[in-house]
Amino acid sequence: MSTNTYARIGKLLVKLETGKTCVAEYETALFLCAVQHLQYEKTHQYAYVSDFQGYGGMLSDPQIMTSPELLKLIYGDEVDGDEAASRLRKNTLFGDGNVEVGFKKFALKHQCNHFCTWMDLAPFDVTDSLDE
Ligand SMILES: [Zn+2]
Repeated sequence: MSTNTYARIGKLLVKLETGKTCVAEYETALFLCAVQHLQYEKTHQYAYVSDFQGYGGMLSDPQIMTSPELLKLIYGDEVDGDEAASRLRKNTLFGDGNVEVGFKKFALKHQCNHFCTWMDLAPFDVTDSLDE
């Protein structure tokens, strides 16, 4: 009987198996967390890729998460989120999985790791996020 255990790293839930697989998958999860941080910074805090899932080195079914501010840039100030975009018959971005609250909590929930340091990424100042 298999007794898998899981570890949560930020929003990632990683299945831990025995031996080297455990270490390798844990390091992969940490790397993907750092990649999200990198994407968030390189898009000027407008987007990152989430919901990584897969097995054996193949990742599939990612979700692109975007700031509601991105819709304002595209359509103007009257479109401040998916609801306003739908009401005004404008296209939304990246489907139902692009959840506004998930995006807003990214900086608060992200835990920097050694890959973030290696990529020269600074930890987030979440003082502003705590006020919301
Ligand atoms: Zn980080």
